Amino acid sequence: MATVNDNYLKLKAGYLFPEIGRRVTAFAEANPDAPIIRLGIGDVTEPLPEACRTAMIQAVEEMGDRAGFKGYGPEQGYGWLREKIAAHDFQARDCEVDASEIFISDGSKCDCGNILDIFGDSNTIAVTDPVYPVYVDTNVMAGHTGEINDRGEYGGLVYLPITAENNFTAEIPSQKVDLIYLCFPNNPTGATATREHLQDWVNYAKMHGSIIFFDAAYEAFITDPALPHSIYEIEGARDCAIEFRSFSKNAGFTGTRCAFTVVPKTLTAKAKDGSDVQLWQLWNRRQSTKFNGVSYIVQRGAEAVYSEVGKAQTKALIDFYMENARIIREQLTAAGIQVYGGENAPYVWVKTPYGLSSWDFFDKLLQTVNVVGTPGAGFGAAGEGYFRISAFNSRENVTEAMRRITENFKVA
Ligand SMILES: *Cc1c(COP(=O)(O)O)cnc(C)c1O
Repeated sequence: MATVNDNYLKLKAGYLFPEIGRRVTAFAEANPDAPIIRLGIGDVTEPLPEACRTAMIQAVEEMGDRAGFKGYGPEQGYGWLREKIAAHDFQARDCEVDASEIFISDGSKCDCGNILDIFGDSNTIAVTDPVYPVYVDTNVMAGHTGEINDRGEYGGLVYLPITAENNFTAEIPSQKVDLIYLCFPNNPTGATATREHLQDWVNYAKMHGSIIFFDAAYEAFITDPALPHSIYEIEGARDCAIEFRSFSKNAGFTGTRCAFTVVPKTLTAKAKDGSDVQLWQLWNRRQSTKFNGVSYIVQRGAEAVYSEVGKAQTKALIDFYMENARIIREQLTAAGIQVYGGENAPYVWVKTPYGLSSWDFFDKLLQTVNVVGTPGAGFGAAGEGYFRISAFNSRENVTEAMRRITENFKVA
């Protein structure tokens, strides 16, 4: 008799987004004329930059010609894309990252999960709370956790709260942890990490022989020039950090799919016999065996992000979303609501007014002004009392949603 991976049975049934869907559908059925605006989504809304489309169209044409046709490409990605990434995203910021240390993939979500393939089963794992659920669920699937408790926390994981009380920084744990997931700029809180804060993490990781998984999916939204974009801007990070990057949010590739992971050749972890093993070599082997590369066409589209015109067009996209974020922050503040984030990230993290729970505030916003957001409690126990509003939307939807809130929902 075949058996299943029982670890999957420990997963909390998809709770957050299905529950939002259920409540919105019930409200819409009871109020069919309500003009609902959804500011809960974490997906981009604006079209692909023209430079990317032009490059992809040209790549399709090349493929239609015997001389230009491409079959399987390198599992690690084409050299020309890896070179551009190394030069523009890293060397231009004085980070020592070589093209050979960059692995092109079809998404950071998969890379964040797949990376666990090359790590042992007895690592102690730390995540922030609130957290991007992928980090937690992939560890549950891999059998790295115990059961879930009634706070929604899995046994065996170390949760690091990020809340207003600690100024939205993940405090360095007092105990030793082996693997640490950090995401800055943060989804869902929109918080950022200073150079000093990341230096503390790197020092901690080097002292304990830990590995930091640094998710920089939102680095392009950083507007404050003092903030680091990459963990490799931090001294010593090449000895303790893997970085995940994606074209999803900066260039609108959520439906096109292209991302990359940086594994420095200087990074090692222990084998059972106590020897040091190069992680680059294991990840290279893992990708070569289980992955066959990203489509040539899509890699040409990603390459165009680094052209002069591509840079200008992606900057315009980001500026557009950040103007939405500014409007959200300004209008909610005017309505007497306390907001965080949204200055270097496309998410505004709202403190629910009147001490309402995340879900009570969700219901109140839906019912009084027909605006949908995401309850912070859905991202972890420490997200209770908060609410995420996304800047990924049309200007029209954002301004209309904020008009309704300021006119009908004054707190002060
Ligand atoms: C959107 C997002 C990503 C990117 O995922 P892709 O699979 O590359 O689309 C990664 N991390 C976080 C936290 C995100 O919100």
